[in-house]
Amino acid sequence: MDKNRLLDALAQVLENYRRCGVSQVARGSLPESAQLALERLASLSPAELSPAENASPADYSASAEGIVRGPSAESSIRAQVTADAVASGSFAAAAQQTANEQPGKWTLPVLEIAERVQQMEGLDRQIRDCRRCENIVQFRQRTVFGEGKLEPKICFMGEAPGADEDRQGRPFVGKAGQLLTKIIAAMKLTREEVYILNALKCRPPQNRTPVPEEIENCRNFVESQLEVLKPQFIVCLGAVAVRSILQSNLSIGRLRGRFHNYRGARVVVTYHPSYLLRNESAKRLVWEDMKMLMREAGLD
Ligand code: SF4
Repeated sequence: MDKNRLLDALAQVLENYRRCGVSQVARGSLPESAQLALERLASLSPAELSPAENASPADYSASAEGIVRGPSAESSIRAQVTADAVASGSFAAAAQQTANEQPGKWTLPVLEIAERVQQMEGLDRQIRDCRRCENIVQFRQRTVFGEGKLEPKICFMGEAPGADEDRQGRPFVGKAGQLLTKIIAAMKLTREEVYILNALKCRPPQNRTPVPEEIENCRNFVESQLEVLKPQFIVCLGAVAVRSILQSNLSIGRLRGRFHNYRGARVVVTYHPSYLLRNESAKRLVWEDMKMLMREAGLD
């Protein structure tokens, strides 16, 4: 694994801890892959690191808590992890100061199916009444809640409704949706066996990319839906879905090809079907990601 992938993997581990409110973790409690990555990083010589990464640990002297809660958490974590690993061959400041809790826990109990129906209906009503995104609501025809199995193994999460979805009130029913349906079928599943939702429940005008504030506005709804559904796996289709639940700005290329954590679910990051409509060659990469998911989910 190259250095950048190691840094990304470690940054993601720390980010997941941070998102769970964990500010300290013992090195021995880290996932095995993170421990291996640390050992590999520690074996790199300073010359193998870029100047920015090769700063003295004193430059990153804030505690792990300060770092993960700092304004530029991602770059700081990367720098801290590198500096610590190189300086001491350990996760010293960043890891040993960072908790004993495990990331990845749902916060609500598992609900019976009737309770799930009730909760989802309540959320749907809240969403239909929601007017938080003032630059969107005046243009929407319908809200698009999501649909599928209420006890799904896998959730597919996209960006926001498009014109077709806005008209019909259903997710992924346009051209990109038809491609997603084919991808799901290639996994030997049907749409009814998974759950499909979007990071935004309303269509941004002219299908523009949602701004961060809008993603933030709608995140509570997404998190509530996922808490009710408690999928084992979530597929993030594109950068907006990534931003919504992983709260990361890293590119899809950097994040795909491995599993991430969101509360009790394992997360696969891949390209949005609408991107595939414009970039045929990326289909192969998405299929690689789906095969990785299928192996792990026992679907192959
Ligand atoms: S996108 Fe989400 S937060 Fe924004 S108005 Fe629609 S339902 Fe509300």
